Amino acid sequence: MTSTDADNGDGMCEDPEGTRYLDDYNAAESLPDMFEVVKDIVECELGRHRAGLMLGFVDLGISHGGFVGAYFVVGGNAIVVNRTALAAIRSRQPELAKPYQFYLLLHEFLHAVGILDEAECRATAAWLSAKTLGENHDVTRISRDFGAIFRNIIQPGYGYIPPEDTTMEIISGFDRSSVNYIY
Ligand SMILES: [Zn+2]
Repeated sequence: MTSTDADNGDGMCEDPEGTRYLDDYNAAESLPDMFEVVKDIVECELGRHRAGLMLGFVDLGISHGGFVGAYFVVGGNAIVVNRTALAAIRSRQPELAKPYQFYLLLHEFLHAVGILDEAECRATAAWLSAKTLGENHDVTRISRDFGAIFRNIIQPGYGYIPPEDTTMEIISGFDRSSVNYIY
């Protein structure tokens, strides 16, 4: 893992108060808002970026063996979130819905910028969230112990929830800053 504090020269990564990421996280209300913070973190802390991603929702269900929160199609350009699992977390532990979604975006975006190895991706997400949001932040807790935290919410007694609708819902306006990048 390489970590260089990158700044593209326009001052966007400056953080004199040291709370910029946390302030932006707290202000974020929607997935597109959260995605802006994720991209900012990855750009400023890792010096990596990628533009033009889409966000899709699809029902992937939940099984006894666990669930897929989201995935990134390698070679594609979409982060796909499991609507079934998100709905379960929203209804059973709503206070974790935001950090859960933020973690999914961070994790999948790290794949999107080329960290394909799963263990490296998880370790990078944990390190980044601790550094930028704090050691005890919910996103950091989730990034360190995703399985244990959500298994308890989703698993006992609920059994397999099969996908209801396999059509993908695309969120428009997801990658707002794409137009600012020049390739
Ligand atoms: Zn992954």
